[in-house]
Amino acid sequence: MKKILIVGQGIAGTMLAWALQRKNVAVHIADGNLPGSSSPVAAGVINPVTGKRFVKSWRFDEFFPAAQSAYQALEQELGVSVWMEQPVTRLLATAEEANNWSARCAQPDYIDHLAEAGDAGAWAPFIRPGWHFGLIRKAARVNFPVLLGTFREKIMAEGVFFPEVSDFRQIERLAKDYDHVVYCEGFRAAENPYFPDLRWQLAKGEALLIRFQDAHRANRIVTMLKKTVTLVPLGDNLFWAGGSYQWYYPDLAPSEGERNYIAGHLSEMLLPAFDIVGQTAGVRPTVKDRRPFIGQSQINAKVFIFNGLGTKGALLAPYWANHLADHLIHGAPLDPESDIRRFSSTG
Ligand SMILES: Cc1cc2nc3c(=O)[nH]c(=O)nc-3n(C[C@H](O)[C@H](O)[C@H](O)COP(=O)(O)OP(=O)(O)OC[C@H]3O[C@@H](n4cnc5c(N)ncnc54)[C@H](O)[C@@H]3O)c2cc1C
Repeated sequence: MKKILIVGQGIAGTMLAWALQRKNVAVHIADGNLPGSSSPVAAGVINPVTGKRFVKSWRFDEFFPAAQSAYQALEQELGVSVWMEQPVTRLLATAEEANNWSARCAQPDYIDHLAEAGDAGAWAPFIRPGWHFGLIRKAARVNFPVLLGTFREKIMAEGVFFPEVSDFRQIERLAKDYDHVVYCEGFRAAENPYFPDLRWQLAKGEALLIRFQDAHRANRIVTMLKKTVTLVPLGDNLFWAGGSYQWYYPDLAPSEGERNYIAGHLSEMLLPAFDIVGQTAGVRPTVKDRRPFIGQSQINAKVFIFNGLGTKGALLAPYWANHLADHLIHGAPLDPESDIRRFSSTG
C-alpha cells in the first residue's frame, strides 16, 4: 500500500487526503495552523458566472458535478452539513447591464444557470432603490470551517494528523518514510524551494461580518447577494461580506483600508441598517495564468504540489484532488492545463 504525506490541511489538502483515503492509500497530514491561510476565511461560494460580461467560468459544467458529489459524499461520511445549493441575487446597476444579462439568459449554454428577476425577494427591505436584478441559479456554498474542522477531528481520531510545521530540511528523511510528499501549503508555497519556477500572483483578501438591525426580516434571506462584493447569509442574522483584493500588503492582519473598501461597497448596495461585527483576512494562492498548480518537483521526484486554486478553491479542489490522486496511485497522465510542467523548458 502506498504511503503519502500531505503538508497543509486547507481545502486542497483536505480534498486530496479524502480522495486518497477512498482509494485505500495510507495518508498522513501535517498542518502548522499558520496565520494568513485562505480556507478559514473564505465564504466557499461557487458561482458559475464571473466578470462584467457574465461569462461562465473555466470548465464549470465539468467541475460543478464533481464538487457536488464529493461534498455530498463527505457530508454522509462526516455526518455534517457543508453543501448548500443557494442562488445568488445579482444586482445590475444600469439598463445596459440588465440588457446584457437578459441576452446571456437566453443563450442555450446559460439557460440552466441564469434567470431574469423582477425584484430582490427577501433582500428588498435592505437594499437601496434603483437596481435591476438577475438570478444566478446554479450557485452553491461550501461551509469550509465545518468541513475542515470535522475532517481534522476524523484524521486526529485515526492518528494520522500531525499539528506541526513541516520543515523543508527534513525532506530527505521524509522521502525515505513516504512514497510521496505532497505540498498543499496555500500561499506559503511561493517560498517552497522545491518549486522555484511557478508564477504566483498572491492576493490578500478580507471580509467583514455584518448583522442587520431587523434580525427578523434578515433571517428570511436565503439567497446570496452580489455586486462588486458578495453577501452570504450564514444563519442567525450573520452575513459574510467580501472580499477585497490586495496584491501588495505589508502584513497578514485585517486592515482599516480594506474595511473601508468593503464597507463603501456595502453602502452602495444596502440601506444603512446594519452593523459590522467582525473582520477577517487571508491570502489567496492566486497564480498568473489562473490554472491550478499540480505536479512533480523537478528537484526531488518524490515531492509533489497541489495548489494554485486561487479564488475558486470550493469549485476546483474536488475535481483536481481526484485527478492528482489517480496520477499518484496509477500514474494516470496529468492534464496539461494544470500540470506545472507548463513552466519548465522541457515540459
Ligand atoms: C477573503 C477571501 C474570500 C474567499 N472566498 C472564496 C469563495 O467564496 N469561494 C472560493 O471557492 N474560494 C474563496 N476564496 C479562495 C479560497 O480561500 C482558496 O481558493 C482556498 O481556500 C485555497 O486553499 P488551500 O488549501 O490551497 O490553501 P490554504 O487554505 O491557505 O491552506 C494551506 C494550509 O497549509 C498549512 N501550511 C502551509 N505551510 C505549511 C508547512 N510548511 N507545514 C505545515 N502546514 C503548512 C497552513 O497552516 C494552512 O492550513 C477566498 C479567499 C479569501 C482570502
